[in-house]
Amino acid sequence: MSTHYHIGIDLGGTKIEVVILNSQEKILFRERLLTEANLGSEHIFKQIHSLYKKAVVSIQNKTHTLGLGTPGSISQKTHLLKNSNTLCLNGLPLQSILEDKLAHNVAIENDANCFALAEALMGSGRGYPFVFGVILGTGCGGGIVFDGNIRQGAQNIAGEWGHMVIDPQGPRCYCGANGCVESFISGGGLEKRIQDKTGRKISAIDFFNTPLKDESLKKIKQDFYARFGQALANLINILDPDIVVLGGGLSNEKSLYKEGINEVYARIFNDVPTTPIVKNMLGDSSGVVGAALVGQKLTQ
Ligand SMILES: [Zn+2]
Repeated sequence: MSTHYHIGIDLGGTKIEVVILNSQEKILFRERLLTEANLGSEHIFKQIHSLYKKAVVSIQNKTHTLGLGTPGSISQKTHLLKNSNTLCLNGLPLQSILEDKLAHNVAIENDANCFALAEALMGSGRGYPFVFGVILGTGCGGGIVFDGNIRQGAQNIAGEWGHMVIDPQGPRCYCGANGCVESFISGGGLEKRIQDKTGRKISAIDFFNTPLKDESLKKIKQDFYARFGQALANLINILDPDIVVLGGGLSNEKSLYKEGINEVYARIFNDVPTTPIVKNMLGDSSGVVGAALVGQKLTQ
């Protein structure tokens, strides 16, 4: 059944956002609430419910599709949510809980996959058949879109490049491995590294925006670009996507597209590397728009 309204919900660790897209991919409605995850899962479901109801009222209860993006993924074996950094939701049958509370079927997808889908269909990746979407935020996520469809992979972990080990002697990651990509080049990983190496608390944004006189900070910056180069070159050497689109807070950092790309290209297994590595176009909206697109796909 075709419908003109596609509701997307982005369930983030700090905020929950809802949008309605029409069939021309125009955003008709947008609203957000704090997740307040510390108040527990029931509170989170209440927040989702209230946003969803507002959205539905705004389209006079008309027929719609519903998609939700979340960190982590639904286990194919147990149908329970796993790997979410909103820890109180892990182990819950998220889909059946939401379908019950919202009285509507819901398509659930990993948030980085939602980002990649939105950028592939409506953003910087439009026109490229094979898009790799990379999130450099608190953590490092990623998603693969091929011919307009998300590739989840056999175990639903495709694109999870944040936990690829690039230095076995590197810092311990919460996943149990040492030296994951995320420990080096996510915003959170970088900030922890600065603190461990210098004892100073500097936000990732300040770190890039203030001139660095301190030699140890300069070294951390060089190391950051080198790790970024290694991590992305590893990806590109395996997948060889048509384009890589960067998202998340750190994607606003301009030097990634100069010094960062130089370090990637120096490590690509090709005499003249050509993979475009570009900033996202949809900004903060890509996750929630992607969630709406995931819901829309269910009806196609
Ligand atoms: Zn890890």
